[in-house]
Amino acid sequence: MRVLLVEDNGELVALLNKGLAQGGFSADSVATAGDAAHVLTTMRYAAIVLDLGLPDDDGLTLLRDLRRRGDATPVLVLTARDGVSDRVIGLREGADDYLAKPFAMEELIARLQALLRRPGNLLGRRLTFGNVALDTEGRQVIVGGTVRAFPARETAVLEILLRRSGNVAPKRLFEDHLFGLSGDVGSNAVEVYVHRLRKMLADAGATVKIHTVRGVGYLMAEDKSG
Ligand code: CA
Repeated sequence: MRVLLVEDNGELVALLNKGLAQGGFSADSVATAGDAAHVLTTMRYAAIVLDLGLPDDDGLTLLRDLRRRGDATPVLVLTARDGVSDRVIGLREGADDYLAKPFAMEELIARLQALLRRPGNLLGRRLTFGNVALDTEGRQVIVGGTVRAFPARETAVLEILLRRSGNVAPKRLFEDHLFGLSGDVGSNAVEVYVHRLRKMLADAGATVKIHTVRGVGYLMAEDKSG
């Protein structure tokens, strides 16, 4: 099981990586909220271990943004701050569990395993915007309550747009996600998939539209015209 570790203390990261590996997890680690946000636009994890005290931004902001986008990935918050108020705020902002530093590695592993056993995690994780939803586990697209059969790549384009909804998704994100880092991508390949997805969404009666931001990428927004 793959987890994302968001922690800026290098020594702790090394210990956590080792402990998580022994606990049967494979971990990707990032040291800033900005890097975490970037990774999370394209990658999905079984769980996120999130330090609250990060150099560039508060971990709580990252957590809040994640939940606002409809991302239900279980989050275990780590913090040196052992105050009751931090704990309450963390849980209110959508953390699933909380561990104050210092902690025993065995406890972290046990808590993570408990999070992943929760029944809620068996349900699909759903991203929504307007009347469009994507079940990221079942890879089903739902428009206006009706399940639609979208091909895999158009669905992948939609997922990136939904994860970034309200923000511009850079074109490179789509290239990396659709064709891998080493793929030889034709210059208009992304445009082709975006064009197809636009048509599929329009035909299905979606209340969202994909806007092209020239030289940058794409933006999904609610369609105010209809
Ligand atoms: Ca820290």
